[in-house]
Amino acid sequence: MPELPEVEALAGYLRQRAVGRRVDRLEIAAISALKTYDPAPSAVAGRAVVDARRHGKFLDVFIEGDLHLVVHLARAGWLHYREAFPSATPLRPGKGPIAVRVRLDDGSGFDLTEAGTQKKLAAYLVTDPAAVPGVAKLGPDALAADLPTFSERLRSRRGQVKGVLTDQSVLSGVGNAYSDEILHAAKLSPFAITDRLTDAQLAALHAATRQVLGDAVERSVGQRAAELKGEKRAGLKVHARTGLPCPVCGDTVREVSFADSSLQYCPTCQTGGKPLADRRLSRLVR
Ligand SMILES: [Zn+2]
Repeated sequence: MPELPEVEALAGYLRQRAVGRRVDRLEIAAISALKTYDPAPSAVAGRAVVDARRHGKFLDVFIEGDLHLVVHLARAGWLHYREAFPSATPLRPGKGPIAVRVRLDDGSGFDLTEAGTQKKLAAYLVTDPAAVPGVAKLGPDALAADLPTFSERLRSRRGQVKGVLTDQSVLSGVGNAYSDEILHAAKLSPFAITDRLTDAQLAALHAATRQVLGDAVERSVGQRAAELKGEKRAGLKVHARTGLPCPVCGDTVREVSFADSSLQYCPTCQTGGKPLADRRLSRLVR
């Protein structure tokens, strides 16, 4: 799932490649992906792309005339930049992976795609990004928040730190993968309760957030959009590495599974050497 660093890199790539070009056509292949109907997709035709920005994990393509194509890539969505398209024929609504296509006046453009059968990618064409419900409720940006803001936000919500850190209304931009990495770097259990964190633990968590996200942005920016996914995987220490050695201490990375997600952590680095209870596993054992 694209998180803050990947979306930041995609925005950066669009700023380099698409800003200044005019939109020829905005094509919607997955009708359910477009969540707005006014302005109509035809409103962007002939208008220039003036900027590309990020709000949390949302990508915002700013088009002249106060139009914003705001996109949430969800779990399996991605943006593919095309130097050219194989055909000028508009996409037909269908079941393929392409949800939205933006054709630019130099023949290039980009596709928003979504793999798999669960279609969650959401696109909004609005005159104000704050009109997008998910954008309106975003908390402060996780990478930009200073320590007092970060601490205040984390303490404002009582719960397991993994869940609070990924709650977009507390802080925006961090999802399942980078929260595993941040908690590992901060040497904190994913199940630590936020309002019991000490000032020192919060400071470590803040520093880890800046470091992990900052490093990931640096790795991703400048890369071609199509290559970003692999780059993200290369930098991870615990996420999606169950059973592999922790690169910091050598202990085996472990996993806790939930109904539709899982988290990874290192017992030695994060939980005093004790494995966390995996509810799915303990239910099976019982
Ligand atoms: Zn470790």
